[in-house]
Amino acid sequence: MIRVVVCGASGKMGRTVCKAVHSDPELSLVGAVDKDYEASGIQDLSEMGENKVYLDSSLSAAIKELKPDVVVDFTNPDVVMNNIKIAVELEVDMVIGTTGFTSDKLGEVERIIDGQDVGIFIAPNFAIGAVLMMKFAEKAAKYFNDAEIIELHHNEKYDAPSGTAMKTAEMLSSIKTFEDLGPNEKEILPGSRGGNYKNIRIHSIRLPGLIGHQEVLFGLDGQLLTIRHDTLDRSSFMPGVLMAIKKHKENRGVTVGLDKLMEI
Ligand code: NAD
Repeated sequence: MIRVVVCGASGKMGRTVCKAVHSDPELSLVGAVDKDYEASGIQDLSEMGENKVYLDSSLSAAIKELKPDVVVDFTNPDVVMNNIKIAVELEVDMVIGTTGFTSDKLGEVERIIDGQDVGIFIAPNFAIGAVLMMKFAEKAAKYFNDAEIIELHHNEKYDAPSGTAMKTAEMLSSIKTFEDLGPNEKEILPGSRGGNYKNIRIHSIRLPGLIGHQEVLFGLDGQLLTIRHDTLDRSSFMPGVLMAIKKHKENRGVTVGLDKLMEI
């Protein structure tokens, strides 16, 4: 049994992860950590199964008490770095879904690990279809000079653009240099043309009712290629999260992207 602590357990993703871990016969949900754990729905978790789940607001206290094999983190970009420091210091592997990892932040994670025998697995998107969307877009990039990304998420999303959109833009620009479409264009309303990542424009839509959606659009004279993925329910992320937990020992140091665990 792999012993798992979920951090951010009261959140939208954390609650879904707790249930998925609890339902998996190879995994044991031993602890649920959230800064708001006393006021939130994770109290229900304490009644899950025969063994009561340990609830806490402190990740370090939970790790010291429970000695888990893996900490799963779905918190927010402001707190995840500190959680990584705690887990590395206490030598526990992590599976991280929290977004906002720029290349600078990934460099900082490398420095925190500093050669220790710890695995930190980070995926900006745990939905298998979203990983394939990124891979298909990467393949198409060779044939098009112009690409734009539209990402659509629920209105409570903290960061913009999404981690998936940033990762997609990085993957496309690793294939080729995209053209600056409008060196002379004028934005009447600042921001109208979206964020600019190496000439790939990223547009972030936030509306109630949405979960997580993304389109990658490639234009060429007389044709448009659109590659789209829709997350219709947070359960879409769970097979990827469970896969990363089960394979935690295979990855040492920092590993980024679910594609690293899939044979694509
Ligand atoms: P949410 O706001 O519903 O949940 C975040 C939870 O973290 C909250 O319950 C909050 O109380 C808790 N938290 C904040 N600071 C904490 C701390 N210091 N210690 C413990 N808990 C703390 O957000 P969400 O929609 O569940 O998303 C969480 C993260 O996951 C975001 O970064 C989001 O972008 C990301 N996300 C990733 C994927 C993926 O596939 N990788 C999918 C969906 C969301």
